[in-house]
Amino acid sequence: MTDVLKWMPRRPAERSSQPDDPEGVMRLSHRLVALHVGGIVLLLFLVLSTSLWISAQHNKLALESSQRLVANALGSEREAAYTLVRDYAFWDAGYAAAITDDRDWLYASVGSSVVELATFDLVVISGAGHAPEIGWVRTSPEEGEVDILPPQLLDEIYGLLDNPGPATYLTTTMFAEFNGSLWIFAVARLTPVDGPPADVLEADLPREIHGYELTQKKLAALGDGLLAENLTLSRSVAPGQASIPIPDVHGNTLFYLVWDAPRSGASILRKAAVPMFLALAIATAISAISSLFAVRSARRLEKALAAAKAADRSRMEFLSNVSHELRTPMNGVLGATQLLETTELNPEQQEFVGLLRSSANAQMSLISDLIDLSRIDAGRRRIEAAPFAPLTILNEVADMMRVIAVKKGIRLDAKWNAPKDLVFCGDGQAFRQVMTNLIGNAVKFTDHGGVAVETTATEDSGRIKLCVSVTDTGPGIPEAALPRIFERFYQVDGSMSRLAEGTGLGLAISQKLVQSMGGDIQVTSVYGSGSTFTFIASFDVQTDASEARSAA
Ligand code: ADP
Repeated sequence: MTDVLKWMPRRPAERSSQPDDPEGVMRLSHRLVALHVGGIVLLLFLVLSTSLWISAQHNKLALESSQRLVANALGSEREAAYTLVRDYAFWDAGYAAAITDDRDWLYASVGSSVVELATFDLVVISGAGHAPEIGWVRTSPEEGEVDILPPQLLDEIYGLLDNPGPATYLTTTMFAEFNGSLWIFAVARLTPVDGPPADVLEADLPREIHGYELTQKKLAALGDGLLAENLTLSRSVAPGQASIPIPDVHGNTLFYLVWDAPRSGASILRKAAVPMFLALAIATAISAISSLFAVRSARRLEKALAAAKAADRSRMEFLSNVSHELRTPMNGVLGATQLLETTELNPEQQEFVGLLRSSANAQMSLISDLIDLSRIDAGRRRIEAAPFAPLTILNEVADMMRVIAVKKGIRLDAKWNAPKDLVFCGDGQAFRQVMTNLIGNAVKFTDHGGVAVETTATEDSGRIKLCVSVTDTGPGIPEAALPRIFERFYQVDGSMSRLAEGTGLGLAISQKLVQSMGGDIQVTSVYGSGSTFTFIASFDVQTDASEARSAA
C-alpha cells in the first residue's frame, strides 16, 4: 500500500508550485522583459522632465541676464553721449560764431570736431531763441542740412534742457524718434571758458545737440557682446519674446529692444542630449543584464520542468508496467474472500469477511483508476476506432447499475431518443468507462428519488453527435466546488465520498477519455437538489453493414 502511494501522482495543490507550464515560463520572461521596457520608459521620462526643468531654469536665467546686460549697455551709451557733449561744449570760438551767426566757421570747425568725435551721427548747433542754424549728419555729409531736427523735437530737447526732470540721465540725454528710427540725443550749451558775457542770459546761450542713431547694425553689434541673440528694434513685442521698452522723454514707450529668446526645443535638445543618452545607455545596460538573468532563470525553469516531466513520465511508466503485479495479488485476495464467504461463518466472521471484501474492492478500484490514469498520461491509452453500438453499451451499464439502485431503493430510468440500430466507429471501451463512471456516481451519491439517463443524437456535418445526460436527485455539488470537480483526487466532501467508496479519480479519467475522443463533459448542479453530467461527442457512423451487425 505504501509503495503504491509513493508512486501516486501528486495532488494538484502540490503540483501547482511546479513549473509544469512551459507557456507560463515564457509568459514570465515576457513579463520580465515588459517590466524592463517599462523601467526604461519611466527612466527616460524622468530624465526628459528633469532636463526640461533644468533647461527652463537655464533659459530664464539667460534671459534675465541678457535683459540686465542690454539695459546696462544702453545706459553706458547715454553716459558716453553725455561725456562727449560735456567735453566739447567749451568753445569760445564756437560761442562767438553762434552768437554772431558766423556760418563758415561753424561749418569748418564744428564739422571737423564732429569728424574727430566720430561717435555721433548728428550735431546741431542752435542759437538761442532761433530755429536750428546748423545741422550735420556724419553718415551723409553731402546732404548737409537736410536732416535738421524738426522744430517739435527741438522744442522737446530744449524743454528737457531747461527743465531737468527727475531722472538724471534725461537731463542730458533722451531717446527720441527721428527720420523713422531711434536716436539717443545728448544736449549741451556752448559756454565760453570765461563764462557768458554779463549781458547774455544763461537761457540765451546757443545749444549744441548731438544725435546718435541706434541702427539695427549697431544693435546687432551690441547683442554680439551680450548673451542676446537676434537683437532688433521693434514697435511691438510678440508673445514669448523678451524685450526692454525704450521710453521717450515723457516716459511713453517709443520702441522695444527685442530679441528671440533661445528656442526652448533646440536648447532642451542640446542640453538634454547628453544626460538622455547617458540614461539610455545605463537603462539599456541594466535591461540587458536583467534580461540576461531573466533568460537564464527561464532556462533553469525549463530544465527543471523537463526534469520534472521526465520523473513524472518514468513514474507513470513504472505504474503502468507494474499494473499486472499490483492486480494479481488483489485478484487473489478477492477470489479467496469470495470463497471464504461460501463457507459456514458465524456472524462475527461474516462481518470481518464483508469488511475484507469492501476493502479489497476499494483497493482494486484505486489501483485500476491509477493504472488508467497513468496509461493516459504516458500516452499508452490510445483511442480505438472499432464498431460499437452505444445503445447496447448503455443498456449493459444501466442493467449493472440498476442492481445497486434497486438495493438502495432508488429508480434508474434510461431513455433512448435516437435510432436503435446506431453503430459508431470509435472507442466503445472508453464510452463504456465514461458511462459507468457517470451513472455509477449518480447511483452512488443518490439516496432518494432516482437517476435518469437520456440520450439524443443529432446530425453533425456528416457525423452523429451523441449527447447523454445523467441526472440524479442526489446531494448536488456546491457552486464553489464545480470548477474543481474534474481535478484528480478532488472530492467535494472527503468523508462522504469515502463512505461511498470513491477515489476522486473517476471524473478526471472520464474527462481525459472524452477529450481524447474530441468531446466534452459538462456539469450543472443545484446544491441540495441534484446534478446533471452530460457527455457530448461526435462519432463516425459505421458503414460496413456486417461489422455494424456484429457490434449491435
Ligand atoms: P469518486 O471516486 O470520489 O466518485 P469522481 O472523480 O468520480 O471520484 O468524483 C469526484 C467527486 O465529485 C466525488 O467524490 C463527489 O464529491 C463529486 N461527485 C461526482 N458525481 C457526483 C454526483 N452525481 N452527485 C454529487 N457529487 C458528485
